[in-house]
Amino acid sequence: MTVLGIESSCDETAAAVVRGRPGAGGEILAEALLSQTAEHAPYGGVVPEIAARQHVRHIDHLVMEAMERAGVGYEALDAVAATAGPGLIGGVIVGLMTGKGIAAATGKPLVAVNHLEGHALSPRIAGNAPFPYLLLLVSGGHCQLLAVEGVGRYRRLGTTIDDAAGEAFDKTAKLLGLGYPGGPAVERAAREGDPAAIPLPRPLLDRPGCDLSFSGLKTAVRRARETHPDAPVADIAAGFQAAVVDVLVEKSRRAMAAFRALTGQAGRAGFVVAGGVAANGALREGLTALAAREGFDFVAPPLRLCTDNAAMIAWAGIERLALGLTDPLTVTPRARWPLDTDAPPAPGAGV
Ligand code: ATP
Ligand code: MG
Ligand code: FE
Repeated sequence: MTVLGIESSCDETAAAVVRGRPGAGGEILAEALLSQTAEHAPYGGVVPEIAARQHVRHIDHLVMEAMERAGVGYEALDAVAATAGPGLIGGVIVGLMTGKGIAAATGKPLVAVNHLEGHALSPRIAGNAPFPYLLLLVSGGHCQLLAVEGVGRYRRLGTTIDDAAGEAFDKTAKLLGLGYPGGPAVERAAREGDPAAIPLPRPLLDRPGCDLSFSGLKTAVRRARETHPDAPVADIAAGFQAAVVDVLVEKSRRAMAAFRALTGQAGRAGFVVAGGVAANGALREGLTALAAREGFDFVAPPLRLCTDNAAMIAWAGIERLALGLTDPLTVTPRARWPLDTDAPPAPGAGV
């Protein structure tokens, strides 16, 4: 199957053509991606209005570029997949309407993809993540532990009760004057710092369950700046990153027990990390060690598939198309769209 994917839910405008089959993996024939980082940097965060305008300006030529570079004509496509949410609504509208337009003009089926399902299924492009697997989704807007039982079948084991991990990285970077985007900047600064120099809290570790919280940590960083005005920024960055990693590793450990209880998987199972924060080296190291200790096979998509991209949307399109899950041209964009909308609460989620 060959699918054109379109992504525009945040600050990346992207198109990609992927050929593949569920279970066997896929080949990314071409990708065209434009990051809006430079447009948003002066504001220290994504400005929705600017994002939407950039998507409008660039989506058409990026689609054409991806199709040309893939060497695939529109008649050879099996479907057009576009992110239909969740995300900044202006951007989502641009991408979904572009997808609808191409689907209508070519007569190809449309697949309206949940952006989070794109992240969740992204390790399967490489063909090495059979269902079920445990997923730690850590991105700019989301932070969740999910049991992925199949396409469209997600059970939430834990979620952040306030900020997402990526959001915490971005806000901390702003507090520390490290600029935007925050995650890579904090990681770079942390390399030169001592994580033990300034003690920071590990929110919610004292409570049972897999839920997470990061807003208190951000406040603690602000306070550390005030009480230790001479402390090197690198030390605070390192302390913050270590706290985030500790929390994510411990909550993932608990989620592994909940996952085993839920799925009955006693032997080896997959543990996947996805989303932009999965690009963090310290986090990858912590999760790799955890997986080895707990008998899970750690799978992390390559860095360029961790942050927003259209290949993961095209791939989710392939997975859904294979199950006959296409959408009518009347499908509407959604700013909010939880991945586990219809799933009942998982037993054992309170481990
Ligand atoms: P969502 O997927 O929830 O809609 P998003 O699409 O904005 O949100 P992604 O593009 O998946 O999120 O990830 C972006 C986030 O990842 C940002 O918050 C960014 O700071 C963070 N991030 C990127 N690289 C790193 C890194 N090396 N270390 C920590 N965080 C990182
Ligand atoms: Mg982004
Ligand atoms: Fe994302």
